[in-house]
Amino acid sequence: MTDIDPRTYSPEGTHLEGRFVLVTGAGAGIGRAVARAFAAHGARVGLLGRKIEPLESLYDEIVTAGGPRPSIATMDLATANGPAYFELADSIEKEFGRLDGIVHNAGILGVRSPIAHYDVGTWTEVLHVNLTAAFVMTQTLLPLLQASADASIIFTSSGVGRQGRAYWGAYAVSKFGTEGLSQVLADELSATPIRVNCINPGRTRTAMRRAAYPGEDPLSIAAPEDIVAPYLYLMGRDSRGVTGQSFDAQ
Ligand code: NDP
Repeated sequence: MTDIDPRTYSPEGTHLEGRFVLVTGAGAGIGRAVARAFAAHGARVGLLGRKIEPLESLYDEIVTAGGPRPSIATMDLATANGPAYFELADSIEKEFGRLDGIVHNAGILGVRSPIAHYDVGTWTEVLHVNLTAAFVMTQTLLPLLQASADASIIFTSSGVGRQGRAYWGAYAVSKFGTEGLSQVLADELSATPIRVNCINPGRTRTAMRRAAYPGEDPLSIAAPEDIVAPYLYLMGRDSRGVTGQSFDAQ
């Protein structure tokens, strides 16, 4: 297990067969590529996002490619309340009877601004979507994950969640919080089969990256499809026992 490099991990196509995993923010960017890769490796995937159209088009792509039929859940993490999370847990239990993993991928950038002028409402929203929603979802779905023999929780970090940088404001703070949440939870679950880790995707060609770096040549950075290897590694059996770590996808 120790000689595997998660960044170049390349498992066989049936690697995730029999598993049901949830990916948040599955409609676009990194979440879409990760959900597609999980399905290509045999997982049934719960596609969670706030808009139905991109989730439906991903559903069609997965089925057309011969992957296991996914499931769609629309949920706006900025506004979802307690009952919405319990409904999600109920529908997973009724439809699949299991949950083997979650990728907390959904996130927003907020604004690039000095702390001195950072808008308080934007601050609250970014912290809520990027951090609090992942906490509430994990808490609500934990009983289902505890029933799995081999569950994996993946949080999404960032370089600015490990070393603060000017003007990254609430986004950076939310990612520091995400690293902290992942470590605390990993420690609490260390005596269980549930593993908890973070992935920092690194510079990746998505709408969020374009918003943060409008002048950058998109072709100079990795496409979402290029960085799925560590997600496949952490969601599959080869990472059993790996917990409390933070990985770089590039
Ligand atoms: P995108 O903006 O391309 O995708 C973000 C996804 O999150 C979209 O599917 C979006 O849905 C969803 N989302 C946003 N807000 C909500 C909400 N309120 N409720 C439900 N879903 C929501 O970003 P990336 O793919 O680039 O980012 C994915 C993750 O990777 C994020 O956590 C980001 O912080 C992290 N990351 C990205 C890097 C990069 O270079 N791209 C670098 C480091 C970290 P919708 O389509 O409806 O907006």
